[in-house]
Amino acid sequence: MPKRVLILGATGSIGRSALEVAAALADEIRIVGLTAGSDAASLAELARRFSVPAVAIADENAFDQLRRAVPAGTRVLAGAEGLVELVQTTEADFVLAAIVGAAGLPATLAAVEQGRVVGLANKESLVMAGALLMPLAVARGATLIPVDSEHSAIFQALHAGRREDVRRVILTASGGPFRSWPAERIAAATLAEALRHPTWNMGPKITIDSATMVNKALEIIEAHWLFGLPPEQIDVLIHPESIVHSLVEFQDGSLIAQLGTPDMKTPIQYALTYPRRVPGIADRLDWRQVGCLRFELPDPARFPALELGYAAARRGGCSGAVFNAANEAAVTHFRNGRIPFGRIVRLAEQVLGRHVDVAQPGLADLLAADRWAREEVERCL
Ligand code: NAD
Ligand code: MG
Repeated sequence: MPKRVLILGATGSIGRSALEVAAALADEIRIVGLTAGSDAASLAELARRFSVPAVAIADENAFDQLRRAVPAGTRVLAGAEGLVELVQTTEADFVLAAIVGAAGLPATLAAVEQGRVVGLANKESLVMAGALLMPLAVARGATLIPVDSEHSAIFQALHAGRREDVRRVILTASGGPFRSWPAERIAAATLAEALRHPTWNMGPKITIDSATMVNKALEIIEAHWLFGLPPEQIDVLIHPESIVHSLVEFQDGSLIAQLGTPDMKTPIQYALTYPRRVPGIADRLDWRQVGCLRFELPDPARFPALELGYAAARRGGCSGAVFNAANEAAVTHFRNGRIPFGRIVRLAEQVLGRHVDVAQPGLADLLAADRWAREEVERCL
């Protein structure tokens, strides 16, 4: 029987790569639901191409357009609640969480509540609410399989030994487009420069996060929750070629890594077929093209975002939610030309510094912290 797959964020970079993977594995995968933020035309086109019985769009104003554009008989839902309802009412064997940002939390949470196997690309939901999602997954029998390439690499490398024998994990980072730039030049970088990632082709928000290295900061928090590791056991190493996707160091000093081309179709497919490994469409590594692999330590002076990630992971509570939301708001302002590039991380730092935390936050506290951080960014401007 084919695996029934629901894709949240189908029109995005990850969503479309997942659909390519699914098309190549058509014998074993059936798409049973798709969602998008506001692009009704693209969602309808994908629904038609993959004969998908149910779709949901977050933007309620796009409901009529979507309903008219999908084949007759397609179930159409709208609004943030519509996405959650789709997750709750669709019999799926696998849910790919690939919405960008904190907006992905409700649907990801719903999939975990349903006890699904969840391929997690939407790292922001874990950064924000890992303290809720991880225990909920255990309670509901849900399985979280990382799709983020570093965390997929660690997930794979962890199979080489016992969890109690892990000394640390090492997240690799390309360093982004400004890896070798001086601080002054980084501070004044343009949107076009920030969107020119050297190795990965991704959606705009994560591409800007890679340029500030907030992406790696978020990934520190993501690894903390996914693998139950304290921040001291999570290191970051710059690796400009993006071929070694991350490493696990065991107590005996052995380092186990996962390598491959920088192509998200590999970790997406691995999550979809786990624990099987099947031939796929991702680019394969050609060693004749690789040349040398470089590794360097990150520079905390030029990339202060990393330390913010560690600080938020150490503090816990609502810190992840605050850090993430402040960054999302700041990135939006940068994209709209309201603040210079250098202000993004400074705003996140400022807002994180002003936040008064609550112990053991529940979902309402986390959502309130997310709202507060976005408002605080406005007040700082
Ligand atoms: P993207 O911007 O290309 O796509 C985002 C998707 O989310 C789209 O389908 C969009 O319609 C939907 N969306 C946007 N706002 C929404 C809202 N308010 N409600 C519901 N849906 C909404 O982003 P992406 O690059 O595909 O990234 C998706 C997630 O995967 C992010 O969390 C990102 O950090 C993570 N990720 C991406 C990559 C990559 O290579 N692109 C790699 C690792 C992790
Ligand atoms: Mg990553």
